[in-house]
Amino acid sequence: MAIHFIMALLSGYLAGKYFKNLTLGILVGLCGGFLIDLDHVLEYFLVYGFHFNPSYFLQGRQFLISDQLHLWFHAWEYVPILIFFGWLFRKKETLKAILFTLAFTGSLHLFTDCIINQVPLKFYSLSYRASQNFSTLKLMTPEAYQNNLALKKKLGL
Ligand SMILES: [Zn+2]
Repeated sequence: MAIHFIMALLSGYLAGKYFKNLTLGILVGLCGGFLIDLDHVLEYFLVYGFHFNPSYFLQGRQFLISDQLHLWFHAWEYVPILIFFGWLFRKKETLKAILFTLAFTGSLHLFTDCIINQVPLKFYSLSYRASQNFSTLKLMTPEAYQNNLALKKKLGL
């Protein structure tokens, strides 16, 4: 979490310097590089409805109960789309800066997640996860899946 926050600030700052708008760079950097993790919250609400329990959320129970990993915001597919629209709106300075900064900071976030979570690059492809039916059994390494099962048992799920 802290790593993502610092990386988001730093990459947003760099993008802001490049596009000569520091405030915008940092704000958009925090969205692309940090708030991208809000899809975990989205996944929680889809499993539990609007009964928010912070400790359930922090335990990641939503993933344990559904046995699925959607992670809608975590997808390489958005990067070329953002770059394309950044190019398309290249005459609109602010919009261009927003789109390129999202692509840049989002990519850094996904790379960092690959390293932290020790998953291959393809893990953060939405189409790849869809091809595996978003199933944790298919997406996680056997070892990580066993840890998940053990945690489920411990929590009585
Ligand atoms: Zn993430």
